[in-house]
Amino acid sequence: MHVMVVGGAGYIGSHTVRQLLEAGHQVTVLDNLSSGHREALASQAKLVVADLLDYAALKSALHIAQPDAVIHFAALIEVGESMRDPGRYYLNNVAGSVNLFQAVVETRKVPVVFSSTAAVYGDAANTPIPEDAPKQPSSAYGHSKLMVEQILRDFGTAHGLPYTVLRYFNVCGAHPDHTIGEDHPNKTHLIELALLTALGQREKMFINGTDYPTPDGTCVRDYVHVVDLADAHLLAVQALIGGAESGKAYNVGLGYGFSVRQVLDATDAVVGTPLHREEGPRRPGDPASLVADSSRIKAELGFLPQFTDLRAIVQTAWDWHRTHPHGFEGQ
Ligand code: UDP
Repeated sequence: MHVMVVGGAGYIGSHTVRQLLEAGHQVTVLDNLSSGHREALASQAKLVVADLLDYAALKSALHIAQPDAVIHFAALIEVGESMRDPGRYYLNNVAGSVNLFQAVVETRKVPVVFSSTAAVYGDAANTPIPEDAPKQPSSAYGHSKLMVEQILRDFGTAHGLPYTVLRYFNVCGAHPDHTIGEDHPNKTHLIELALLTALGQREKMFINGTDYPTPDGTCVRDYVHVVDLADAHLLAVQALIGGAESGKAYNVGLGYGFSVRQVLDATDAVVGTPLHREEGPRRPGDPASLVADSSRIKAELGFLPQFTDLRAIVQTAWDWHRTHPHGFEGQ
C-alpha cells in the first residue's frame, strides 16, 4: 500500500516511515521541516515540503500521491509552550488538521490514523487509564488534540471518513540501528535530558518533585518505545484498510509505569556512571501518575510491544545519542 505520512520527518513519524518501508510499503512524507529532519528519511520515501496551513499544497500532494491511507503526526507538542502561546497551537494543530481532513475528503477519502496523546486525560483520577476515562486536558496542547478527535468524529459522521485515534503515553527510545532517534529543537523529555547530561552537555539532572503520592515520591509514567509505537500505526492502518470499525481510540503504552528515580537508575546503569541529581520542586501541570490501560489495543489490534524492559529501552536511546551527540546536525 501507499501511505502518506504527514509529519513523517519528525521523531515518531520517521520511525513509522522506516517500519512502513521495511514492510514493503510505498511512502510519501509531507512535512514543513519546522522541527523534523530531512536526514531522518530514507531515500525511498518521497518528501513533499509543505505546511498544513497551505490547503492548495495539501490537495495537490494528495492528488499526486493517491495514497491508500494517511497517518497524521504533524503537530506542535510542547505542553509549556502551548500555555504561553495557545494561538500558535490551535492554529497549527487544530486548523492544520481541519485543512488536512478537508483535503482528504475532497480528493481521496482514505483511512486516517491520528496521533493523539495521554494529555487528553489530564490529571486522571485512576490509573491505569482506560480510553473511556474522563477527558480533562490540563494544557492547550492537550485541548488541541482532544478538539481534533472531535473534528474527526464529525468528519466520520458527515463524510464517512474512516479513522483511528492513537493516544500515546511517554514515547522514548530510538531505532536499534541508531541511525534515527529523538532530536527536538527544545529538549524537555526525561530520558533524552539524562542522556545529554551523561554526554556532558548539561551539568546535572533535576528531579521535578519528590512529594507525589507515588511509591518513591516521584512521578510515574508509562514509557513506550518508539519502534513499538510505530508498529501500532501499521496495525491501525492495516485494520482500517481491512474494514475494521472506524472511530476507535486506543491507548498506546506498556500498561505499567516507572518513576523518575527508576528511569534515572536505568540511565545510570546504561551509561555506566551515576549522573549528578538534584531534587527540585514539582513542574506545574505534571500529573502524579500516567499509566495506560492498553488492553484494548492489545486485544483488538494485536499490539505486542517488543521493548518491555526499561534498561533495554534506554540502551537504544543511549546508542543514538552517543553516536549523534548533536542529533541530525552536521549529518
Ligand atoms: N522530569 C524530571 N526532570 C527532567 C525532565 C522531566 O524530573 O529533567 C520529570 C517530569 O516532571 C515528569 C517525568 O519526568 O514527571 C516525565 O517527563 P517528560 O517531560 O519526559 O514527559 P511528560 O510526562 O511530561 O510527557
